[in-house]
Amino acid sequence: MHTVIIKTKHGKINSKNMKSAASAIRSGKVVVFPTETVYGIGANAFDEEACKKIFEAKGRPSDNPLIVHVSDLNMAKTVCFISKKYEKYLLKVWPGPLTIISKAKNTVGKIVTANLDTVAVRMPSSSIALELIRTSGVPIAAPSANISKMPSSTSGKHALAYFNGKVDMILDAGRTKYGIESTVLDLRTFTVLRPGAFSVEDLTRAFGKKPRVHSENVVSIKKVRSPGMKYRHYSPNTPLFLYKGNIRDLNKMLKKHKKIVFIGSDNACSMIKGVQKIRLGNYQEEIAHNLFDALIKLDSVKAKFAVIQSFGIEGFGLAVMNRIEKASNHLSFKNEKQLHKLMNVYKK
Ligand code: AMP
Ligand code: MG
Repeated sequence: MHTVIIKTKHGKINSKNMKSAASAIRSGKVVVFPTETVYGIGANAFDEEACKKIFEAKGRPSDNPLIVHVSDLNMAKTVCFISKKYEKYLLKVWPGPLTIISKAKNTVGKIVTANLDTVAVRMPSSSIALELIRTSGVPIAAPSANISKMPSSTSGKHALAYFNGKVDMILDAGRTKYGIESTVLDLRTFTVLRPGAFSVEDLTRAFGKKPRVHSENVVSIKKVRSPGMKYRHYSPNTPLFLYKGNIRDLNKMLKKHKKIVFIGSDNACSMIKGVQKIRLGNYQEEIAHNLFDALIKLDSVKAKFAVIQSFGIEGFGLAVMNRIEKASNHLSFKNEKQLHKLMNVYKK
């Protein structure tokens, strides 16, 4: 398939190109576009055939529903029910990286909701995403623009590598603002199903109450409430192990293994000697922003194994640790013996 690639100039897409992207959406085509979180792969949410193409392009299991992107509260109400009680809060937090789960209206197809009676809805703050939705005049169903299980695209370069030749159009606006996906909040139970770029602390401030946070570690034995929870996610091909100890001790453990890559903050990287390193920066925002890029880079390094450090879970840290836990498939170690055990299992 020929993919039309449109690049931004000074962060903007000219109106001719925007109109052609919007008309692609309206005519049932698939368009990859930037949001402030990660890139999305989108189609008209009211067009089941078009939405089906998203699942095909991503290789996404059909029981993992899509997020519907809207440009205002009225458009949100065309796809879901929003109680008066929550309306005033949504006017406060939208546009932004917060996805709500609410009872679906029958305007959205079963393919979008994966047969659930709820739907995920978000109003992005990225001006390109908003303009695309507004110009299209329809809500856009869009999951993250990555091949299923792989790390999400945080730059046009990633999106092109995944989808050039597989979708009708890609809008390339360089790097996204946050680099980590939206927070998914179930409005009915006020529970965070997926931590993301809207922190629990910010949610508590905005809504005046603390949300519950679903513990994903128990999803395998409890009922999976967000279908996305049960899949392996964000995974590089290189086996990745999470280190849960202090960096000084890790330096001693890694010294003996030349083919290991270490992924960590700049500070941690400067303490680790003799192995290849991928730096994430030092501030929480930078680390969130660089994480997926680091996971994608890791596979081009062709290392045998990679080790990533753990971070605190305050602010963005909760979302960062959620992605790291998944990317490492919950394989973690605290000492040399445990590291060797993991390495032996994953030796080719
Ligand atoms: P993605 O767009 O790829 O970041 O994935 C969207 C996330 O939202 C996935 O984790 C989905 O499982 C979740 N999601 C979408 N719709 C619903 C829904 N109706 N109920 C619960 N979770 C949902
Ligand atoms: Mg995703």
